[in-house]
Amino acid sequence: MTLDTNQITFFAFREEVQLTDSLGRSGVISTPHGEIATPAFIPVGTKATVKGVLPESMAALGGQALLANAYHLYLQPGPEIVDEAGGLGAFMNWPGPTFTDSGGFQVLSLGVGFKKVIAMDAETFRSDEVIADNKERLAHVDDDGVTFKSHLDGSMHRFTPEISMKVQHQLGADIIFAFDECTTLHNTRGYQERSLERTRLWAKRCLIEHGKLTAKRSNHPYQALFGVLQGAQYEDLRRKAARDLAGLDESGISFDGFGLGGALDKEKLGTIVRWMCEELPRNKPRHLLGIGEPDDLFTGVENGVDTFDCVAPSRQARTSAVFTQDGRINLTNAKYQRQFSPIDDNCDCYTCSHYTAAYLAHLFRSKEMVAGTLATIHNERFIVRLVDQMRESLRVGDFFEFKREFLGRFYSGNPKRQAT
Ligand SMILES: [Zn+2]
Repeated sequence: MTLDTNQITFFAFREEVQLTDSLGRSGVISTPHGEIATPAFIPVGTKATVKGVLPESMAALGGQALLANAYHLYLQPGPEIVDEAGGLGAFMNWPGPTFTDSGGFQVLSLGVGFKKVIAMDAETFRSDEVIADNKERLAHVDDDGVTFKSHLDGSMHRFTPEISMKVQHQLGADIIFAFDECTTLHNTRGYQERSLERTRLWAKRCLIEHGKLTAKRSNHPYQALFGVLQGAQYEDLRRKAARDLAGLDESGISFDGFGLGGALDKEKLGTIVRWMCEELPRNKPRHLLGIGEPDDLFTGVENGVDTFDCVAPSRQARTSAVFTQDGRINLTNAKYQRQFSPIDDNCDCYTCSHYTAAYLAHLFRSKEMVAGTLATIHNERFIVRLVDQMRESLRVGDFFEFKREFLGRFYSGNPKRQAT
């Protein structure tokens, strides 16, 4: 951004360590609400709350920033209310940096049952209208935007690049994302090409609208806009998307960073991320959208990702699935009823410091609300800390050793890695 010299100082990325044998790096993102040491995992508070956990606890467990979903906050309570409250952070009592996604992934996946990471052979099944069994498509995309049906009350709504920008400016997060079309791995090559061009044109419109809104709302803290790269599993499309969006400049306004988006074939995750990061400028941060499995986090960091977000740690925690060094376990399994020690001996979270697995097993079996709270604190701490440890290992130079050690143990009893 070059609109206002007072504002430009509020967002920056500084690379600190860059590996020589891979794209892995550590650095610092500076925002108006504080710094984020990268790589970092950003916990998700979909509706301006991490379900069941106070923001104070999220800060205590090491969360450096939180990400909320523009689609959900647009429907409820409405972006104008969050704006009047002083923005997302003030509204939810979170003083640190915040992110919002563009709403694109949510509206386009409405009712369809999209998955972010898919373990499958994407070559075997091709159709542009693939939807999950027994699901009704609730969104329709055209060149101007997306019309969708609210999952709350069935009312019809429309998002365009301009509306997404307006909503995200009202929400007021430090880092916001351009509106994009998220395709599935099942779409045909021809559709992916047309969709990528649509996303490029939407990215231009987002930059233009973002510039207008930034100038109009110059009394608000600066918001950094990240362009979102699509291109599915195709190398030429992924590289083109990165070059196109990195090269966009609308009257001096360019993207402050980049979101790596779209559905991703788990087996090719590292390769696809590498294609994009090789093309992207080193002086801007890269966020891998919606990824949070331990092995995927290592793959992302190794290939140049700076930040991640994912709802999985909290969503899984609420179903009693928690992380340990030896893999994921389910606390409702009979053997945990008498485990009078923490979920994970090595964990330094509030839950593991004060409670036993046996107590959590009891809370889950008796459906007590605090079960989800304590399990979420543990899972979020586990993943936040894991990425913090990756950052530390990048700094001291033993990233690959740490990766080998952690993954070897985590998946030892669980050879079939799970996709989220
Ligand atoms: Zn713990």
